Amino acid sequence: MKILVATELTQGTRSNDYNYCVPGELVWVQEPCDRDRRNPDGGCGCGRGFAGVASHRATTTAEVVEVGFSRDELIIAMRTSLADGGWPQDWASDVVDDNLTIASAFPAGTVIERRLEEFQARTA
Ligand SMILES: [Zn+2]
Repeated sequence: MKILVATELTQGTRSNDYNYCVPGELVWVQEPCDRDRRNPDGGCGCGRGFAGVASHRATTTAEVVEVGFSRDELIIAMRTSLADGGWPQDWASDVVDDNLTIASAFPAGTVIERRLEEFQARTA
């Protein structure tokens, strides 16, 4: 199964890249706030970000990796993270499925970036 995790790879390709995540942690996609809702290069940065489940911080770069976890195991991990972050735990299966859907569209090893609701490969 392929999942999206935080990576430092290709950081700096865009001048407004940032990475406060732990490399390799599972990420999820949050709704942009009002400030960045229509602008992935907005001042907040959430419209181009992925949120890390362990660090509770964010990055603009995620990598598709092949893992031996099951979807159920990911949901358990996500549920714990959402609870820690003060988010509703019943979001867990939806945000895991978002992650898996995005990851399934790219070969393992691809670094992707986010432009609001669009996800695209970066060339390394
Ligand atoms: Zn924001």
